[in-house]
Amino acid sequence: MVRRGRLAYTDERSYDRDARGVLWRRIPSTPGKGKPDFGAVHALRQRLAMANALCQVCGKPADRDERGVLWLLGEASDAPGSWPQGLETAHPPVCRPCASLAARSCPHLGRRHVALRVRSWTQVGVHGALYRPGPRPVAVDAVGIPFDSLAVRWVIAGQLIVRLDRFTLVDPTEM
Ligand SMILES: [Zn+2]
Repeated sequence: MVRRGRLAYTDERSYDRDARGVLWRRIPSTPGKGKPDFGAVHALRQRLAMANALCQVCGKPADRDERGVLWLLGEASDAPGSWPQGLETAHPPVCRPCASLAARSCPHLGRRHVALRVRSWTQVGVHGALYRPGPRPVAVDAVGIPFDSLAVRWVIAGQLIVRLDRFTLVDPTEM
């Protein structure tokens, strides 16, 4: 539904929105009723991990050393050396044990993932379902939307996106 010119839940509670007023996907709070929405559970974990620099796998604090916080990013199509500072990602950082586990379970880690040590990052937006404004809003797309966009009033967020402002690439064997 629509309330005060933005998308809203009919029975909205204060915890449905974050401090910026962004509406978040709901975690079902009725145990025993229906199947759990694992996507929603994942959304909450992703959001907490990203906001608090927790490991995306186990939820413990992500690894931090003098070079910065450890991030492991996949699907690097081009030469990592050319990655721009200011890269945006929806993947939270990782802790050392989980990063090592990922490295061992994926023999092509060096090629398919890159390890970054990130000194500073900024929460820049959310990824979620965008609704078309109107009396009965309809979901039209799954998109990434910056916080400063007006469209953020018409989204149900599923993931927090951060911009990695200052980072250095590190060898996965020396991450
Ligand atoms: Zn971990």
